Amino acid sequence: MNILVINCGSSSIKAAIIESANGDRLFKLKVERIGSEQCQLVIGNELPRSLGHQDIFSAIRTVLQTIEAADVSFDAVGHRVVHGGSQFRRSIIIDDDVIKQIEEVSALAPLHNPANLAAIRETMNTFSKSPQVAVFDTAFHATLPKRARSYAISQEIAQKHEIQRYGFHGPSHKWVATQAADFLKEDIRDLRIITCHLGNGASVCAVENGRSIETSMGMTPLEGLVMGTRSGDIDPGVILKLLRSKEMSIEDVDNLLNRESGLLGLSGKTNDMRDIEEAASQGDESCRLAIQVFTHRLRKYIGAFTATMGGVDAIVFTGGIGENSALVRHRVAQRLSFLGARLDEDTNRDCNVSRDAPVAEISEPHSRAKLLVVATDESRSIATETQKIVAGQDQVDGSLTIPVAVSARHIHLTQEAVETLFGEGHELTPYRPLSQPGQFASEEKLTIVGPKRSLENVRVLGPTRPKCQVEVSRTDEFWLGIDAPVRNSGDVANSPGVTLIGPHGRLTLQEGLICARRHIHMTPTDAKRFGVKDKDVVEVKIDSDGRDLIFADVLVRVKSTYALEMHIDTDEANAAEIKPGQIGTLAETDFSAQLRLRSVNYQ
Ligand code: ADP
Repeated sequence: MNILVINCGSSSIKAAIIESANGDRLFKLKVERIGSEQCQLVIGNELPRSLGHQDIFSAIRTVLQTIEAADVSFDAVGHRVVHGGSQFRRSIIIDDDVIKQIEEVSALAPLHNPANLAAIRETMNTFSKSPQVAVFDTAFHATLPKRARSYAISQEIAQKHEIQRYGFHGPSHKWVATQAADFLKEDIRDLRIITCHLGNGASVCAVENGRSIETSMGMTPLEGLVMGTRSGDIDPGVILKLLRSKEMSIEDVDNLLNRESGLLGLSGKTNDMRDIEEAASQGDESCRLAIQVFTHRLRKYIGAFTATMGGVDAIVFTGGIGENSALVRHRVAQRLSFLGARLDEDTNRDCNVSRDAPVAEISEPHSRAKLLVVATDESRSIATETQKIVAGQDQVDGSLTIPVAVSARHIHLTQEAVETLFGEGHELTPYRPLSQPGQFASEEKLTIVGPKRSLENVRVLGPTRPKCQVEVSRTDEFWLGIDAPVRNSGDVANSPGVTLIGPHGRLTLQEGLICARRHIHMTPTDAKRFGVKDKDVVEVKIDSDGRDLIFADVLVRVKSTYALEMHIDTDEANAAEIKPGQIGTLAETDFSAQLRLRSVNYQ
């Protein structure tokens, strides 16, 4: 499919017609320095043509006329939209309602969204027959858990002003993480990747099992790393001090932090890393400091994000600096061997990536965590996303039904653990069968002991397993006083330990306490009917007492021995006011189906 990708900023517009399957550029152009007398148009690799003074609207019209005149056919248009707020969790086909909603979130990105919207409106008028898709910078980060999304301020104020961490550079982080997984011949849903997008804007992202779970940019693209002209992280007290000094207005401070800081501010000369590296090697102390602060901050984030994911499998460098600066990569990665990431100095120095050879490995062959350089391609990422949305690949059959089971806290044990807790030679006694074939709730119950309190009479499920696992709800977690990670069942590595007490003895697990991630069990035949695959993550909409409730982040698990069923925990069932026998409707999201509810209680 040929996709016209439009990336309209406040001072430049880039457009390209891209064959989404292979990334070929069939046509490309850019308009730069919009708003100044030096505004110019560059078509393909031709020399720039001066346009004289153009405002954003006339520049957009010039772009669209040039595309029409080029007479290269395309099937759909993908628009980069910087801010999707909390309304847009994914790319979407644009209609009047969507435009209205983008307008509503524009207060969050006053410099960016209005330009994006102007391009959308003009393009819809000019190419009214082509479907148009909005691809949001923020959407990839819609999966940030609440603990990563929330600023530690009054929730009332945060809600009123929509203050939370949204994250940016989504198409780039998603693209390079996918490229990295393909290069490593691994399923992205099994990997923990840290992607470092280092361009004029810079951000780092923790991509766990294919989903963004932490990122350095926040409510705006100002938080986080040192950038070309942006400060990144700064004590908010600094801003208060500057404003109270009365020497600077709000606009002055805005200018300082967004346009006069970062590499430019530290070096006092330039925001261009090439020039900074050169000057630093000639002895310029300010440029040396700029490099030190830039790389120190990035290393700090990599360490933090590794801790957040409990480890890292690949660290990816991308963007103008990440792809080209061996020095920056060296300074960041030389001190990461304690994470299992060992830099190969020679391949780092010689590394060269391009659109044709987009991935290079710069770690030593035995490095447990891989260090990669990946050429980013945001336009292609937008084209791929647009193609997927236009082809309806995010839709599934909405006419099917899934029963929902509410799973109470429960425990899986090894045979060895059964004998420690219930006596030598003891075997679990089936109490009643569970819906998943071969599984049963047993007669046996245990006490779970946490640092704060205990939970008694927790049912053990059978048959025994190769690993012990204790599944509790959020409420249980706070009752016990343990921070249990949300995990797929079976994935207990690096989870907290817990003590179990049975009639015969006690057992302290080193790991195994988790908050089970909501999931749907299905057979390969069901997966085919729904149009999903094992480890897909879907959204499920339930009509609960006339209220639409979305269960985001539902994991699909496919095995021939499974029976079709969605599992949520008691907290979620309570929040959704789900009662046995209730029927819900799923629609509009990645996952559309009818839910029929049924309660399974293990207690
Ligand atoms: P944008 O965010 O505007 O797309 P880019 O991804 O093009 O920016 O990155 C621009 C940055 O990349 C600049 O700071 C530039 O100096 C840096 N860069 C490009 N090539 C090199 C290089 N060979 N060595 C060091 N830095 C480089």
